[in-house]
Formats: sequence, structure tokens, C-alpha cells
Amino acid sequence: MTRINNPMEIYKLLPQTNCMDCNEKTCLAFAVAVFKNRKPLDQCPHLSHDVLEKYGGETEKPNTIEEDMRDAVEFLKAKIPGIDLAEAAGRTGGKYDGKKLTVKVMGKDFNVHTNGTLSSEIHINPWLAVPVLNYVLNGKGRPLSGNWITFRELKGGMERYSLFRQRCEKPLQAIADSYPDLFRDMLDIFNGRRVEGPVDSDVAVIMYPLPLLPVIVCYWEPEDGIDSSLHIYYDETAAENLDLDSLYTLTAGMVIMFDKIAYKHGIPAGEQAGRTHG
Ligand code: SF4
Repeated sequence: MTRINNPMEIYKLLPQTNCMDCNEKTCLAFAVAVFKNRKPLDQCPHLSHDVLEKYGGETEKPNTIEEDMRDAVEFLKAKIPGIDLAEAAGRTGGKYDGKKLTVKVMGKDFNVHTNGTLSSEIHINPWLAVPVLNYVLNGKGRPLSGNWITFRELKGGMERYSLFRQRCEKPLQAIADSYPDLFRDMLDIFNGRRVEGPVDSDVAVIMYPLPLLPVIVCYWEPEDGIDSSLHIYYDETAAENLDLDSLYTLTAGMVIMFDKIAYKHGIPAGEQAGRTHG
């Protein structure tokens, strides 16, 4: 099967005359339509027999992020029967009852059964399941230090900080700006607690996405023409109790949860943050 990685690879096969015989305005639009399986390649009548023979049938496409995440969940679940969940309970701050390990995720029960199946009081999606499974499988169980640092200050965080800022802190800031109940929801729904933040801020709330992974969200309201600001802080042991990719995924998943809650209340914060709601 021929592998096609992106629409540009299809575009390069086309005459690039923008003649519109395929009913698309441009060859590039046609290439995108073919890549997304909206049109077959042979709807461009100007392609040679050889090109159609090679690329006109079924082509292999790269996995979507969703497919990759689902594969990752299955891969990690398959490792669970090979580990000692009683030992994992000690490392993760969870409880083991002989059949399943229960850890608190955002204050709610999340169960990892000995055969690798998952069950929870909260909706399980891959953005939650992958970090939780990595936490159970690989977390080092370091006790909390009480020293709070930013994602950028975590080991390896500097390289990933711009993505983290874009996908986690900025969208959460947009939600806080337009959804005044965000911090109340953090307290009520997710067992958050108001605290003195590691830095002086208007609001600081501590939550526990996982028992050994508390986060403090600090928010500064807009004032006198100065924009609001929001930063997320982690205990300095965070990257030992969960790998950095999972830490990012977990935080991004948490932001999506808040976004959905705000959206349900009629606040289109996600649109400001550039996301859509399923
Ligand atoms: S028919 Fe072919 S050449 Fe014409 S616009 Fe469509 S893709 Fe381009």
C-alpha cells in the first residue's frame, strides 16, 4: 500500500493548473479533499494512468493523535497484569483491595483492575488514561517537597514550555477571563482548596490531578488596562512521579475538562482558546 503523509504529497502529483474540472477551486483544495477521503483521486481527469494506478487505490495515512492515544492506552493496559498492584498502591498513594488499585484522580476514584481494565467515577478518555497508567506503571513515588516550580523549571520542561503555555496556561487563562465560576468549580467539583500561592496572586487554588501530583493555579485579574495572567505550578518532585509528556497530557486534559464545563454554562471560552467541543 502506498503511504501518503500529508496533502502536499498529493498536490505534487497534480498538474497544478487550478482548472476546476474536479469542482474544487484549486488543485490544493482538491489535494486536501483527497487526503481527507472526501474525493477519490480519479476525479481529477488530468492524471496519467501510472499515477492513478500507484496512488488512486487505498493509501496508508498517518495515525491521528486520537488513534495514537488509543493505541497508547491499550499498550499500557497490557502491561498492568505484569506488575504488583499492591506495591504500586504504596508508590502512588492509592489503595489496593486484592482486585484493583484505586487512585484519586482530581479527587474521584479511578480503578486499575489486575487484568488491566479501567473504571472510574469520571469519564475515562485517553488524555486521562495514559497519564494515570504511566503514573501507576512508572511513578517513583517521591514524597512531596513543598517547593513549587513552573513547568519550565521541571527537568526537560524548558524545551516543551512553549507548547505547554499554548495548550495549557493560555486556554485556562481565557476560561478564567470569561467564566467567573471557574475557581468555584475547581473548589466544588474537583475538591480544590484556596491556598497562599507560591507567588502573590489574586486567586490561588490547589488541586490534585493525582495524589502525588498537586498543582497550584495562580490567576491575576486584568487591571487598569493590563491583561490578566495565569500560571500553573508543580511540586518540584513532579517529573519523578510522572514523566513530563504525561504531565503535559494530564494538565491539557484537565484544561479541556474545565473548558467543557464552561461551555456547558454558555461560555464559549474554548472558542477563544482555539478549540472545538465534541
Ligand atoms: S481537475 Fe486536476 S488540475 Fe484541475 S483543479 Fe482539479 S486537481 Fe487541479
